[in-house]
Amino acid sequence: MANQPQTTDVAIIGAGPVGLFAVFEFGMLGMKAQVVDTLRAAGGQCVALYPEKPIYDIPGYPRISAAELIERLHEQAAPFAPVYHLDQQVTALGPGADGRWLLETSVGTTVDAAVIVIAGGAGAFGPNRPPLPGIEEYEGKSVHYMVLRRQDFAGKRVVIAGGGDSAVDWALSLAEVAKSVRIVHRREKFRAAADRGERLHALAAQGRIELVVPCQLSGLEGEGGQISAVLVADLDGNERRLEADILLPFYGLAVSLGPIAEWGLEVERHRIAVDPATCGTNRPGIFAIGDIASYPGKLKLILSGFAEAALAAHAAHPLVFKDKALHFEYSTDKGVPGLD
Ligand code: FAD
Repeated sequence: MANQPQTTDVAIIGAGPVGLFAVFEFGMLGMKAQVVDTLRAAGGQCVALYPEKPIYDIPGYPRISAAELIERLHEQAAPFAPVYHLDQQVTALGPGADGRWLLETSVGTTVDAAVIVIAGGAGAFGPNRPPLPGIEEYEGKSVHYMVLRRQDFAGKRVVIAGGGDSAVDWALSLAEVAKSVRIVHRREKFRAAADRGERLHALAAQGRIELVVPCQLSGLEGEGGQISAVLVADLDGNERRLEADILLPFYGLAVSLGPIAEWGLEVERHRIAVDPATCGTNRPGIFAIGDIASYPGKLKLILSGFAEAALAAHAAHPLVFKDKALHFEYSTDKGVPGLD
């Protein structure tokens, strides 16, 4: 059941790096933002896929970890007091009154906005869940599909499931802080980069990580959301019980444009076609920026998305403030509320 709409100037769909920077750009032009994301934390791909990896092509930062970039973007957006609606997907978008837009989320939040900015990346992320009965009871408590801070797992008995980069990277990282780390994979061989694979085997030889291979997850034990053991089975069906506090299944993220594909927007190869001068879509008042936007020569880079946020904000201004002319100003002249 939808709730009473919350009114704002711009509703931003997606709290990835580009959506967060859009809060800043729209804020600088006097527009208030509400931001919706499917994930429980802001940060998009940077947080969900590679939080600890260094990024080298953010202007002004010779090297910055993806997680830190997101922290900085949060800080930069904060003076404009955005409202975040996390852990919910925008499921419906349609016309409201007087040329405005009305969006609705999976938990019934409704937002009435003068303009919409879609910064949805490749679409809504969702984890590929292992098919274990009753796993939902533990999700977000002792079963996690992404790691935000490795310190949360200090001193814990961690079981990681999966054989790709995320599984191996987190096994290596958590081995430094966790009480024990076991990695369950259905093959002997891991798919991670060669140097990471070698390091994994070196730590296994030292007894700091246990490789539980070839095995698959077969069940969970625990109560009240807290697991006490992870059950695994080898290829012959022999079961083993691994005592554990935490299970981290890394079976990849399922990504789909989902409901965005149904909003009457011109979509080409899973991305939204925009006018590169404004980032406007074929529907007046709806803009698309970042990885989800498509135009000739588009580069799927964070820095391109940042520039698109600035273009969209300038193009949206006359739609939000119908009687107010916009005079271009540098941030050095305008300043930022609350900052010297
Ligand atoms: P995303 O980061 O994808 O965020 C989009 C958000 O929108 C997601 O959180 C999603 O859940 C949400 N969303 C989508 N649909 C909905 C909906 N219907 N309702 C609610 N929420 C929704 N780029 C660089 O510039 N430099 C690099 O060095 C670099 N390295 C990379 C390394 C890796 C391993 C990967 C995977 C990518 C890398 N990238 C790099 C690419 C960069 O991460 C992307 O360009 C960037 O994340 C795009 O930002 P975005 O905000 O457009 O989208």
